[in-house]
Amino acid sequence: MALAKVYSVALLGVAGHVVEVEADIADGVPAFNLLGLPDAALSESRDRVRSALINSGEAWPNKRTTVALSPASLPKRGSGFDLSVALALLAGEKKIPSERLGATVVLGELSLDGRIRAIAGALPAMVVARDAGFSRAIVPRANLAEASLIPGIEVFGFSQLINVVAFLRGLEFQEDDEFESVENPSTVPDLADVLGQYEARRAIEIAAVGEHHLLMMGTPGAGKTMLAERLPSIMPPLDTDAAIEVTSIHSIAGLVKGSTPLIRTPPFVAPHHSATRSAIIGGGMNQPRPGAISLAHRGVLFLDEAPEFVSGVLDALREPLESGVVSLARTGGTALFPARFLLVLAANPCPCGRFTGDGRACNCTPLAIRRYLSKLSGPLLDRVDLQIFVEPVSRVALAASDVGEASAVVRERVLQARERTSVRLAGSGFATNAHVSGSALRREFAASDDAMALIHRELEHHRVTARGLHKVLRVAWSIADLAGHDRPRREDVAEAYLLRSGISQLVGAA
Ligand SMILES: [Zn+2]
Repeated sequence: MALAKVYSVALLGVAGHVVEVEADIADGVPAFNLLGLPDAALSESRDRVRSALINSGEAWPNKRTTVALSPASLPKRGSGFDLSVALALLAGEKKIPSERLGATVVLGELSLDGRIRAIAGALPAMVVARDAGFSRAIVPRANLAEASLIPGIEVFGFSQLINVVAFLRGLEFQEDDEFESVENPSTVPDLADVLGQYEARRAIEIAAVGEHHLLMMGTPGAGKTMLAERLPSIMPPLDTDAAIEVTSIHSIAGLVKGSTPLIRTPPFVAPHHSATRSAIIGGGMNQPRPGAISLAHRGVLFLDEAPEFVSGVLDALREPLESGVVSLARTGGTALFPARFLLVLAANPCPCGRFTGDGRACNCTPLAIRRYLSKLSGPLLDRVDLQIFVEPVSRVALAASDVGEASAVVRERVLQARERTSVRLAGSGFATNAHVSGSALRREFAASDDAMALIHRELEHHRVTARGLHKVLRVAWSIADLAGHDRPRREDVAEAYLLRSGISQLVGAA
């Protein structure tokens, strides 16, 4: 009897566990058993491993063979265990030295001809392996760049099973360099393209400073999408920890490609309003997949025509907006995906989209408008600090305006304002202005006296609710941070109030 052990990784959400792949090859009637809660994909693994071995010039063991993946209770899904099963079989037959596999994790799907296919989640799998004390990894060549992002673990990438075998035998082998070398497109559109739109540009700058969620209302063609997709270009670039976290999520979704895979720019994710709940929140029948809200982690989630989204989707955003994570319950465990995003909602002002306030261009009844916008009101809008109208730029303004300020210039102001924010909030438990609690805003983070007097007057005249007051103050802090004021002044609060008052009356939200 020969026993051999190879290590791999099973992921659940962005977390995971090391899996032992143990091959037991004994004399007896030839048979092959695969144990350890395998799903359908894992059972098909047997056929792929057999073909790949034979097509790589190795023999399929003509003995009583058992391969067990443990711990058995762990939900193991997908095809990423093929390579570890193949190597366990070879090691069990003493065709490769098993001591060379001791501190190594092995990931990879095999194709029938012996090529090694890319897998999803190579990056988070490396984090799991390193944290479990492994110092080496064998991964698909196509995943080499992303797997190599994790320091402390030596990663080898292969495109063919035959090359892995040669490597483990200490023999010469030739890797072709023709693996996918597509770079991540890092072309974020620039704010310089946006002409006019002073108020909206100001609003997204403030949103970037304080991580304030934003509602833009305006007729189709007013430029809402153009503004939203430029928001990442003025947000702080992701530091290494954040970049690895974001890239991990995209890796699990199978979206990481190329030789420079680390995502340094805040992602921009814009699902269509017909997208399913699981496409947006996350889900999948077996393998939990991150949804749009997790792909937008540390970036922007843009919901255009927000009132048109599938029923329940907007409500389902509330929990992740609160906690910054989304939990997906599945048999065998709960998958957690980070989901801290800046939410940008866009909406037409009425069902037909032509409402202008004086009602001339539009036949929508007040009831129809109210019903349309009511999908946005309530608890979701409670979390949206900035609510603005976006007007189409007139031809005159278009002709008159100079080129807009470039993103790099705006981002520099955002970074300086963020610096002031983080110095002030250090030790408070709040990360950004949008997160500061109502009670803190009344005490240690209150505005200046005359600014508070202004807002209390609005409160007394019922032009703002207590909840609305907190939103105004949070935005006022971001305005003050941009202006370099120690505390929000009267003019900062006045601007913050203007940036949300128009729509609140229309939507009837606080
Ligand atoms: Zn209308």
